Amino acid sequence: MSITRNLERICNELPSGVKLVAVSKFHPAESIAEACRAGQKVFGESRPQEFEKKVQALAGNGIEWHFIGHLQTNKLKMVLPHAALVQSVDSARLLDAIDEWGRKNERTVSVLLELHIAAEESKQGFYEEEILDILFRAGSFRNIRFCGLMGMATNTDDEDAVRADFARIKGYMDYLRDLFPELSDFRELSIGMSGDWRIALEYGATMVRIGTAIFGERLSD
Ligand SMILES: *Cc1c(COP(=O)(O)O)cnc(C)c1O
Repeated sequence: MSITRNLERICNELPSGVKLVAVSKFHPAESIAEACRAGQKVFGESRPQEFEKKVQALAGNGIEWHFIGHLQTNKLKMVLPHAALVQSVDSARLLDAIDEWGRKNERTVSVLLELHIAAEESKQGFYEEEILDILFRAGSFRNIRFCGLMGMATNTDDEDAVRADFARIKGYMDYLRDLFPELSDFRELSIGMSGDWRIALEYGATMVRIGTAIFGERLSD
């Protein structure tokens, strides 16, 4: 199946108002260019070096780039000048560094806070109470725009487990929106990947991040 056909099938099923982030990590710039020609303009990358290289290679295509991987504070300048959204903020230290970068560069950086929802120990992200702590002092991060939550469900064939993860993040999102009505940008819920995006839609996803189902298998991860 071609990238163009895969995109067509997914876009036909996605409700309007849900943003498709095409996850192009480990796939060559030519694949991104093909997706672009098919009308896809939002792409997600997870490694700073690869992100920066692709931004340069594909300049002029009107792409909206999202960063979705672990970001170390010493790699900010590879990512932040080009990222419309950093989806994967997973520590207060990173948040402080992004805010500081924004201040120095006179930019406001849009971020999602990554909530740890999967059962696996390895998955990154904040715990609920850490996010609460950050949002209570959201006003002190002058160069950050808090746009919502990102999460990855447990990687399993057990649909009930995936549903439980999505229900938890959806419930938490609703709770936060209630608690912080003044954070008017805080409304994105980025959940759902190739294997579970249809389920994520049932739990209020406003963004899905799909790689394999568009570009095929990755060589490594
Ligand atoms: C790789 C990745 C995806 C896409 O995964 P697929 O299963 O290939 O769709 C989505 N989100 C994040 C954070 C990723 O790292």
